[in-house]
Parts: sequence; C-alpha cells; structure tokens
Amino acid sequence: MKLKKGDNVLVISGKDRGRKGKIIEALPGEGKIVVEGINIHKKHRRAKRQGQKGEVIGIASPIAASNVKLVCPKCVQSARIGYRVIPEKKYRVCKQCGEEV
Ligand SMILES: [Zn+2]
Repeated sequence: MKLKKGDNVLVISGKDRGRKGKIIEALPGEGKIVVEGINIHKKHRRAKRQGQKGEVIGIASPIAASNVKLVCPKCVQSARIGYRVIPEKKYRVCKQCGEEV
C-alpha cells in the first residue's frame, strides 16, 4: 500500500467522491484507510446516566485504499504516485512534479 497515516488524499469513488481529507489510520493488512471526515457513519450513544441525553456521533469508517488518490503537497493535485528506489530507501514521488511525497 502506497498510503500512510498523515497523507492527504482525494476520494475518487463512493459517496464521498471529490472530497479531500487526511489519513488518520492506515490498515495495510486490509488495504484500507480511515480518512478524516470521510465515510462517516453515525453512531448513537446511549445516555450513561439518567437525565443525560443520548447523542449521535459520527465515526469515520475505513474505505478501500484504491478509492483514493494521494494529493501531492507540492502541486496540490491528486497525483499519480511512483516509487524511486535507491539503496536502503524507497521514496514515493509525484509523477507530475517529481517531488518526493
Ligand atoms: Zn506533485
């Protein structure tokens, strides 16, 4: 998986298509990521004490990593990402501007 926590991504399919967000969790084992503000599922939380109101909270659910594109911080476009490999290090590079991302 080319994506990691902290990356900014653009959603390219699904109900949140066209929206951008930051990856708050990467799940490489499942090929999924959790993106801030994307794929929000509402959860009802019951009141814990009497007199307290139950509340609805939005929780970002994982989406397939293939549904997003990494946004290049340099050219601020959704970028096609490649790898540049030098001994002992693997870089991700933007195919548009050639910058490391
Ligand atoms: Zn770029």
